Amino acid sequence: MLKIENLHATVAAKPILKGLSLTINAGEIHAIMGPNGAGKSTLSYVLGGRPGYEVTDGSATFDGADLLDMEPHQRAAAGLFLGFQYPVEIPGVSNVQFLREALNAQRRGRGEEPLSGGEFLKVAREKAALLKMDMDMLKRSVNVGFSGGEKKRNEMVQMGIIDPKLAILDETDSGLDIDALRTVGDGINTIMRRPGKAVLLITHYQRLLDYVQPDFVHVLAAGRIVKSGGPELARELEEHGYAEIAA
Ligand code: ADP
Ligand code: MG
Ligand code: MG
Repeated sequence: MLKIENLHATVAAKPILKGLSLTINAGEIHAIMGPNGAGKSTLSYVLGGRPGYEVTDGSATFDGADLLDMEPHQRAAAGLFLGFQYPVEIPGVSNVQFLREALNAQRRGRGEEPLSGGEFLKVAREKAALLKMDMDMLKRSVNVGFSGGEKKRNEMVQMGIIDPKLAILDETDSGLDIDALRTVGDGINTIMRRPGKAVLLITHYQRLLDYVQPDFVHVLAAGRIVKSGGPELARELEEHGYAEIAA
């Protein structure tokens, strides 16, 4: 599904990614762990197409298409979803409006008919129920006044409605209490652990991986994957720290 080869990228003319290679197949959950400043967020921004992140060498394909050649909205329409550490608040725009716009923009991008208000509400109700979120929350302004845990549940409902092929979640677990962590874990498992889908979980800590069992764990240090393994690698990192393993 995602094939990254020898990726080099700069931010503000500073080389950050220095020859990163990673292959993710449908049905797999991958975790990337690594010290602060290793380039984890840079990787997710480069894959999402954020302006200011310049690819200087290497390639990334998504379902065989050149991902780096696509505009951000084309990447989303192709099935790429990016989740972030700090969900934004959008006063005056309800979740329902926001998500219907987002979903319909992607449907148009794929040449599909946009959903009517009624059709969209049916999908939204179904996903909210699946993730045990009250529909009233979906009618409120995006994330305004939501607690940390509610923002995360909301993000999981967004992901459920958008229904991506590949979700890249960058430190989605940071600062969460145990209940919110479980919400995120359940959300990822419910929505994304399905045939034809894949997840790239970027995390600094092992604890989210107690809820979402990765098939593969990679260590990113100084802009490259320096070690790959199974779930046991995350526990080794927790025990011994990055310095020893990345050395
Ligand atoms: P991580 O997510 O692994 O903590 P980042 O990808 O956020 O790491 O950052 C990698 C490196 O890139 C860091 O040294 C950081 O200071 C640098 N960096 C990130 N964004 C910018 C920027 N806009 N300008 C200059 N340097 C940046
Ligand atoms: Mg960081
Ligand atoms: Mg980061």
